Amino acid sequence: MRVELDSRSYEVRIVSGENPRAFGKFAREALEATWAGRGCRSGLVVTDENLAGLAGEFLEGIVGVGIAASLEVLPSGEATKSLDSASTLYDRLVAMKADRHTCVVAVGGGVMGDLAGFVAATYARGLPLLMVPTSLLAMVDSSVGGKVGVNHPGAKNIIGAFHQPTGVWIDTESLATLPPREFRCGMAEVVKYGVILDPDFFGFLEENARAIQSHDPDSIRRIITRSCELKAEVVSKDEREETGLRAVLNFGHTIGHAIEAVSGYGGGFQHGEAVAVGMVLESRLAERLGWIDSKVADRLIGLLEQFELPVKAPGLDPDALIGSMGLDKKNRGGKIRFVLPCEVGRVEMAEPDVSEIRAVLGEMGRA
Ligand code: NAD
Repeated sequence: MRVELDSRSYEVRIVSGENPRAFGKFAREALEATWAGRGCRSGLVVTDENLAGLAGEFLEGIVGVGIAASLEVLPSGEATKSLDSASTLYDRLVAMKADRHTCVVAVGGGVMGDLAGFVAATYARGLPLLMVPTSLLAMVDSSVGGKVGVNHPGAKNIIGAFHQPTGVWIDTESLATLPPREFRCGMAEVVKYGVILDPDFFGFLEENARAIQSHDPDSIRRIITRSCELKAEVVSKDEREETGLRAVLNFGHTIGHAIEAVSGYGGGFQHGEAVAVGMVLESRLAERLGWIDSKVADRLIGLLEQFELPVKAPGLDPDALIGSMGLDKKNRGGKIRFVLPCEVGRVEMAEPDVSEIRAVLGEMGRA
């Protein structure tokens, strides 16, 4: 499928068990389509310690099409998404005398994509970037759309850029080695697409939850393809989150980010788990405001439970969460902005009164 963005359009290729040599051909074609990638003769493949073997295969793929590439293996985990790691990669690019025709290939989950993408966006004011997402979350969300960045010790994702990739290569078979908890986290974002944009897709997830849980190849391809289509559609219409349309992707994230921050990054809740709880609570908020009846949140809870995702977060202090939400970079004028469901498949923006938010958070221990 293509992400349509005028001169920055690119292909997302979804394959299953394809030879890495085929990736080399895809990379070469994608690079030839951009001025910076034309004549690309060198590349840096960036990955984390859990994926070094797989990344080596992709490296061979691009070497096979005449790109002299080297591999940088970093520690896995959110802490690697830092300016220090970016600095390590800049050192590496300088040492290999990289220029604007050197490509960066990110092999891994969202951490590698965001970090390597940020380095690609900033080194020499922009290098061509190829995304090879290997986690479900990266396949359905972070690899498409061009948001790249690193964390500041005091604020997640606050240092970043918009830098669209030159191409995205998704091999669904990479998921075979993904830990089950990481798979579940990706499913939270998949469910989100159904709630915000596509009631039929939500229904598909309900009917095929068991097949998805057992990694049925057709179901997996379907959920990745549909999620990427929906994300591509949104990004094509509002690349830089300027019209408000792209903001629909933040459903579940206002409360979700606060849960992550208050419980401590890498602590009790992973991103997808916090988003799952966030979606439930934001649906309850919509219910409080009279936008939906309780059946919507109940359906959502039922689906999230099928994917073994949490639907409540007992023990967190509502005031601490509200304080954290107030720091969110997406807010304006002191009000906390939410994306709330009006029905399954449609959402609207809202800036509810803090008393309503507090009331919903007060019931956080109960789903
Ligand atoms: P991650 O990159 O840390 O990957 C999770 C874990 O799974 C890591 O330990 C990784 O080594 C491992 N892993 C990945 N693929 C594997 C595979 N195939 N086999 C075995 N192990 C594998 O985390 P993530 O959940 O992929 O991404 C989270 C990050 O994405 C966060 O930093 C978040 O801010 C970012 N994100 C960015 C966007 C965006 O639009 N840029 C959107 C959503 C999330």
